[in-house]
Amino acid sequence: SANATTSHLTRQLGNTLICHGDAKRARSRGVRTYTSTTSEKKERVVILGSGWAGYALARSLSPNKTDRVLISPRSYFVFTPLLASASVGTIEFRAAIEPVRRLGLTDYHQAWASDIDFARKTIRLEATRRDDRATRSEAGPIPSGKEFEVGYDKLVIAVGCHSQTFGVEGVKEHACFLRDVGDSRLIRLKVLKAFEGAALPSTSEEDKKKLLHFAVVGGGPTGIEFAAELFDLVHEDLSKMYPALMKYVNITIYDIAPKVLPMFDKNLANYAIEMFHRQGIKVKTEHHLQRIRRVDDHLMLKIKEEPEEVGAGIVVWSTGLKQNPLVEKLVGQEIEGFGKILKDSKTGGIIVDEHMRVQTEFGSNGNKEKLTLPDVFAIGDCSVVEGEGFPNTAQVASQQAVYLGRQLNKGIDENKPFRFRNWGTMAYLGSWRAIHQSASDELKGKAAWILWRTAYLTKSMSIRNKLLIPVYWAITWIFGRDISRF
Ligand code: FAD
Repeated sequence: SANATTSHLTRQLGNTLICHGDAKRARSRGVRTYTSTTSEKKERVVILGSGWAGYALARSLSPNKTDRVLISPRSYFVFTPLLASASVGTIEFRAAIEPVRRLGLTDYHQAWASDIDFARKTIRLEATRRDDRATRSEAGPIPSGKEFEVGYDKLVIAVGCHSQTFGVEGVKEHACFLRDVGDSRLIRLKVLKAFEGAALPSTSEEDKKKLLHFAVVGGGPTGIEFAAELFDLVHEDLSKMYPALMKYVNITIYDIAPKVLPMFDKNLANYAIEMFHRQGIKVKTEHHLQRIRRVDDHLMLKIKEEPEEVGAGIVVWSTGLKQNPLVEKLVGQEIEGFGKILKDSKTGGIIVDEHMRVQTEFGSNGNKEKLTLPDVFAIGDCSVVEGEGFPNTAQVASQQAVYLGRQLNKGIDENKPFRFRNWGTMAYLGSWRAIHQSASDELKGKAAWILWRTAYLTKSMSIRNKLLIPVYWAITWIFGRDISRF
């Protein structure tokens, strides 16, 4: 490759540092070489994001053929399907994450990509800091003020999506999200804080009810699984410690849609609703949350369909996705000679062809031409394969990553487009029961729960976590969940 990486180069420009992959070109511009890390033959593949797509791609790329550079504000991968379990202490946080440095990458930069210059093949980055404690996904990474640029031979955009708040007042400030381990930790702390607050002799009956009302907004698999895990925590563990408070506990799922779990058959969705009904979890469909405000220790929710505000100790928000700010920026800008990156009209995601290559539209009205942006790929939640309506799931993101990894290792094979293999959809419903649906079969109850646990175990990334996860499940089964607040 013309841009083969021979070294890392650096230049100080005010407070902007430039790291570049093309030694000769950089030297001619007066850039100083500071370290030599790789061979002439290897291509420098820069991956933006350490989620299902980015992390799986970094694992799939051959270190013998490519220099793998990963850039993400998050120095770890999060196994999102286990976040709900982690938020109630069924497993420990460490079992749901994988540090990216374990991949033996050529480089990892803890930074946020703020812009891309496709002509110069460079990415503008802002170094970020992590807050040790509650790293809330919605708060976003904390900028450090240090900016630098990184060059690429091939670029893969895998920055995922953010939570959509639909501009509802108070959601950003008061609701909990469930996208990162920091979110799980915060939820665990808040649930336990609500119980301790309600247990105080000075707390009135009215306030006990408000504090121990747990509201979940969004009836998709994430909201449903969180409500189910919370039910297990309350009934299997907290009921032994706070027996007098059990009569005040309420879990409600609100959704604006007419039904929850829309991706499941009616039969399975009804099974879930009936089970929740028996467990006392309320499912309120066609309910619009309009505002959340804080009053003393608790929150007050304004629901359009209810005459009076409803008190709650916690609101967990899990409805819809919106595009990452980087994607919003990229799809809006003009690229010389290529026009604009094509964006999906429904989701705002980056349109890619069936080889995951980013597509652009060049020219003006009546004379438009579709082009492929050279050496730039997009995978995961931030991308949309043209003509396909793949869901925003870990399954799709990881399969795209493995496919692209193979393609980049061997060289793009035009005859091998990406094909999605649907392994089915699952949701945990509490009390060791789940639902599973695939093209060939449907399963519900304990058998589906065994399948659910087996699937998560086999899909977890490292051998370390494949061992840790069943150990935590066993500890929870024998000794109960970890309900320490620290
Ligand atoms: P993400 O996993 O969101 O990763 C994006 C990465 O990009 C992050 O590392 C982020 O820090 C980084 N990033 C963001 N902006 C920038 C930037 N500007 N520069 C550099 N890096 C950046 N799917 C399933 O198939 N099955 C399930 O059971 C399931 N359960 C889920 C449970 C929960 C609680 C959640 C939240 C999601 C679940 N999903 C599930 C969906 C699945 O997690 C997503 O579809 C998947 O994470 C998408 O992967 P991604 O790599 O595209 O994005």
